[in-house]
Order: sequence, then structure tokens, then C-alpha cells
Amino acid sequence: MLELTAVEAHEAMAAGELDAGEYAEAWSKAAAGDDLNAYLWRNEDGDGGAIAVDRPSIAPIAVKDIFCTEGVPTTAGSRILDGYRPPYTATAVQRLIEAGAPILGKTNMDEFAMGSSNENSAYGPVLNPWDRTRVPGGSSGGSAAVVGGGLAPWAIGTDTGGSIRQPAALCGIVGLKPTYGAISRYGMIAFASSLDQCGPLTRDVRDAALLLAILQGADPCDSTSVGLRQAPQLPDREDLKGLRFAVPSDLTEHVFDAGVRQVFEATLEKIEALGGELGEVSLPHAEHGISAYYVIAPAEASSNLARYDGVRYGMRAGADGDLIQMYEKTRAEGFGAEVKRRIMLGTYALSSGYYDAYYGQAQKVRTKIAADFRTAFEEFDFVVTPTSPSVAFGLGEKTADPLAMYLNDFFTVPMSLAGIPAISIPAGLSEPEGGGPRLPVGFQIAAPAFAEQGLLDASYALEQAIGFDARPQGVRGG
Ligand code: GLN
Repeated sequence: MLELTAVEAHEAMAAGELDAGEYAEAWSKAAAGDDLNAYLWRNEDGDGGAIAVDRPSIAPIAVKDIFCTEGVPTTAGSRILDGYRPPYTATAVQRLIEAGAPILGKTNMDEFAMGSSNENSAYGPVLNPWDRTRVPGGSSGGSAAVVGGGLAPWAIGTDTGGSIRQPAALCGIVGLKPTYGAISRYGMIAFASSLDQCGPLTRDVRDAALLLAILQGADPCDSTSVGLRQAPQLPDREDLKGLRFAVPSDLTEHVFDAGVRQVFEATLEKIEALGGELGEVSLPHAEHGISAYYVIAPAEASSNLARYDGVRYGMRAGADGDLIQMYEKTRAEGFGAEVKRRIMLGTYALSSGYYDAYYGQAQKVRTKIAADFRTAFEEFDFVVTPTSPSVAFGLGEKTADPLAMYLNDFFTVPMSLAGIPAISIPAGLSEPEGGGPRLPVGFQIAAPAFAEQGLLDASYALEQAIGFDARPQGVRGG
């Protein structure tokens, strides 16, 4: 029963062939076998208090620990939120509960979603289910690892600059970042509010469509949420006839692993074999995405993180001193190195005298990148790239070099800055540079804002043609 996709399980439940309670129970047992440090909290006996689901009617789900869950520990991967139990539940999670999806647990993540390897979690790194000496990607590394590692049928995460797509690629699963505003951010702990978006991490494209249908929608509690014009339907498209796919040469001419390039090129051939048209497009400003993102995201983060003062949430240190000392001690002990680095970068970029040179300039670049995509979409339906420049890298390999870490987001950040939807689907396996067992490679497809249905339809057709059915050793179906 655990080999079913969430859609298959849903259909079997609707037909009365699968008992939803037994199915949820079996997944709780599977989740209890977590040996990847992927869960920070597990709903073991189905007693999640306020987030409990009385009558399950859809597959249970793992939730990134960035979503507030009433009465249930919510840390965002940070020590500063140790012991925090929110008084309310995020809208995205509430929608899952109302759809009848039991919450299996809360998943490990980079602190406040800052990172690409999960090594910035205050609760230790998550291991990649394909190779436990490697990272699962980040920041939604826990959510990607539980789905890839057979510890949950599906999961939700958040993507600010690539945090759903990149870990999905590194764990061999599907990850979708919807259009900014498709899903409510209410109760999703803020990193960079103009970029943060919730989305699905699933075994396949149909599961992503079903999950998006549950999650999407306008929410009076988030004024930037508008939802999709129509709830997504399950895709069943078989070919790509009449669809035009653009390769952005300004991005793909940059160096990335030979094995990733090989899988990328083989996937382009599959697009053509399905009747899709390929072309080249120029996104002249997209290669400056990383530079703009690492000004804008830290700027917003420095403002959002001002609320952690030892008074309102989680931990407090230095309570024996005066108020200022207490603030300082709490933040010094509560935040990890990467979060401190971003707060310093952000406050610097926003300070008077530097604002125009850094923050203002980065906003202009962001506008240009969005315009580049709009121009590309006049001629093409989709823009395609590899999701990540490399397959999963070794634990500790990039922790000493923040710039090398930031370059993991080279292909994913431009879509985030433009607010457009993008999906990563597993496209094949490749040997890591330096040798070792073969690891999954992700293929990224981006579409115009609110064109999720077309994106899912095309991804589904391509997914069928790729026929990726590899699973990590020891995982059911592997
Ligand atoms: N890796 C990027 C960062 O560290 C993106 C993170 C994300 O999308 N949340 O900011």
C-alpha cells in the first residue's frame, strides 16, 4: 500500500478499496523509521491535538517546520524558536486538515529557510536518502528527504530562491514552486516576504497537481494571496505538440557538471521526440539574479527577523540582565551563523547612504529579470534549465564557502525574482564529479505567471516519456 502515489491512494479510498485509517497508520509506522534526521516532530499516535484529523480521507502529509501548527512545536530550524508552540495554524496546513490529510510530522530545514543543504539547521543536517554522506539540498531538505526516502507519501515546503525545486532535484522527486500569490503565506514563518511561496514536494507530477489544488486559493489573512483562476486538474497530456520550449543560453552557457549537462541534453531530445519545439532565448539579466537575490532576500530577512527578541516567541537568554542585554544575548545565542550573516548583509544594504547603491539597484535588476521572462514568453510557452548545477554534494563540502553555497541557486533564483511558477522533475541519474554511485538530476520548467495548469500538463507528458522510476536502495519500489 505504501507504493501507491497519493493520487492512486486517493482513488483507491474513494472506490472503497483502501481504508484511509489503516493507510495513515502504515505511513506513521514508516515515518517512525526516520534515520535521516528528517523529522523534527512526528505525530506518532495520530494525536496532534488541534491539528488532528478525525476522519482521514487523503494521504497523510509531512509539513516543513516553517508552518505554524497550533499547539505543536514549530522551530523553523532555529534555536531561537525552541519550545515555541504557535497559538494558530497556517492556512496551507489548515486546508490540508480540512481536506482530510493527517499531518505525519514536521520536517527539518535550514534555519529560517536560509540555505541550500540543510546544514544550517540548529537541529543537525538531514541525510540524503540516496547517499547518507551527502546533503539532501535545502532549505526544504527534510520534506524532500522524507518523500525520496519513503518516510512520507508527499510533503509541503517553501521556496524563496529555490528551496523546493533544488532539494526535490537532489532527492529524485518532483518539486513545484507556484506563482507568487497562488497559496496563502499566512502562518508561514517569514524569510523574504516578497519571494516566499509554499508548494508541493511529491513522487510525481499528478500528486503535485492534486496537492496544489488543495493548497491554492485566496485567503483574507494574506493580502498578497489571490489563488489560481481555476483549481488545477490532474494532468493527462501525452504529447508536447505545438508547445515551444526555450533554453536560456545566458544561463546554460555557465559551467555545470558534465553529468548534469548530459541528462539535460537528453531531456531536450525527449521534448522534441514528443513533438515540442526547442529554441534559444536570451534572458540578459538573469545571470545577475544571484547578486540581486542576495541583497533583496537578506534585506527583507533582516526586517522580518527583528521580531525574535526573547519576549514574544521561543527561547530567552540573559533574563538576569537589563532589557537590551536580554535582547542581545537571546539573539546571539538563538541565531546561527548564516542567519546572523544575512541580518548583517540586510541591515547594511538597507542603511541610509547604501540603500540606493544596493537595495535600490537590486530592485531594478529584479524588474529587468521579470521583463526578460515576459519577453521570452511572447515567443515561448516554457523556459527550461537544469534545476541545480550539480547532483547532491557531500556533507560539509561547501559549508566553509558561502559563495559556493549560494551558487546552487543559480538556475532557480531568476524565477523567484520574477514571481513565476517553476517545477523540477527527476530527469535521470548521473555519476557525481569525483565518482560514486549515480544520483538524481532535476530538470526545471518555468512558465508564465498563473500558467500552472499548462506547466503541470507539459511536465506530466515529459515525465511519462522520461519514465524515471529509480528509488534509493532500501526504499520500497527501489
Ligand atoms: N538557498 C537560497 C537561500 O539560501 C534559497 C532558500 C529558499 O528558497 N528558502 O536563500
